[in-house]
Amino acid sequence: MLTIDGSHGEGGGQILRSSLALALATGTPFRVVGIRAGRAKPGLLRQHLTAVGAAAAISNAEVTGATLGSRELTFVPGPVVPGAYTFAIGSAGSTLLVVQALLPALLRGDGSFALTIEGGTHNPSAPSFDYFARVLAPVLRRLGASLEATIDCPGFYPAGGGRIHLTIEGSGGRRLQPLDLCERGAVHSRRVFALISSLPRQIAEREIAAAAERLGWDAAACGVVESARSPGPGNTVSVEIQAEHVTELFVAIGDKGVPAERVALAAADQAAAWLAAGVPVGEHLADQLLVPLALGGGGRFRTVAPSLHTTTQVDLLHQFLGVEVGAREVGDGAWQLEVPAWGG
Ligand code: ATP
Repeated sequence: MLTIDGSHGEGGGQILRSSLALALATGTPFRVVGIRAGRAKPGLLRQHLTAVGAAAAISNAEVTGATLGSRELTFVPGPVVPGAYTFAIGSAGSTLLVVQALLPALLRGDGSFALTIEGGTHNPSAPSFDYFARVLAPVLRRLGASLEATIDCPGFYPAGGGRIHLTIEGSGGRRLQPLDLCERGAVHSRRVFALISSLPRQIAEREIAAAAERLGWDAAACGVVESARSPGPGNTVSVEIQAEHVTELFVAIGDKGVPAERVALAAADQAAAWLAAGVPVGEHLADQLLVPLALGGGGRFRTVAPSLHTTTQVDLLHQFLGVEVGAREVGDGAWQLEVPAWGG
């Protein structure tokens, strides 16, 4: 059985989620030790536990150590079984991070999957629903994946209670096409949108005005306030930029006591940095593409300097699949990543 060191590199929940994804897709059993050893509160939180439970449910896996706070786990997957599944995190933990653990295997599955996941949909340090639906899912669809994502209602910290749906038509083992994403192309459209639930609409308007001003855009032409009904109050501001070959989205989450303008600038500054970097793939998309690409047809893309999340994923791909992802600086802070297809 493969032993994974959860304290390695980034030392967070992603090592576990990616291990689950790779185990499900390849049928490889693994044991992970030192789960989230790099975090202030180590061990399994509800979001991670839901990911383990979900991965076990879809593959009838044998699991040991799946309890809150556990720092060690073994996972022996069976074949992935198509069908309709509902998973509830039971807290505001991120639903999209649960998706991260399942999606790569479902894309290769032998039939249709309908997932409903309840919890948080707009969390700090996680893909927001908008990011998943507008950035990651379209790239995967371009490579041949069949997936749709919808949201019933957003969930924010601390109340949670968001609900998302995913439908995936598995490819029956057929691989995704190779990715070639080295150019961004011209920017077609850009917008700032703010999501607001049970808070004054004015907060969202101030955020849009501040983000647009920082980016030098006309707020009236690019701002949208979306009111949402969530079990608790919440707010996010997103900057979305659609270019010829990729869409990127930068989000900041409103927080009690943090002025709307400061939240907006956090999103706008990420967008400005990506625009200045001139690469198509932002920091977060880079680490999230690696597992689906390695399990699919591989590919190459240009991005910013690899984050610790990315280098940790690279190491994990080596351990699970024996693939060596190439990374080289190509000038002006841009990097090119080459992902070989597993077994290819
Ligand atoms: P912990 O590390 O505390 O265990 P975790 O399990 O919630 O936390 P991480 O291991 O930090 O998560 O992984 C976070 C994932 O969320 C990474 O894939 C990262 O790319 C992604 N992510 C973080 N922030 C954003 C963002 N603003 N937009 C899109 N994706 C994001």
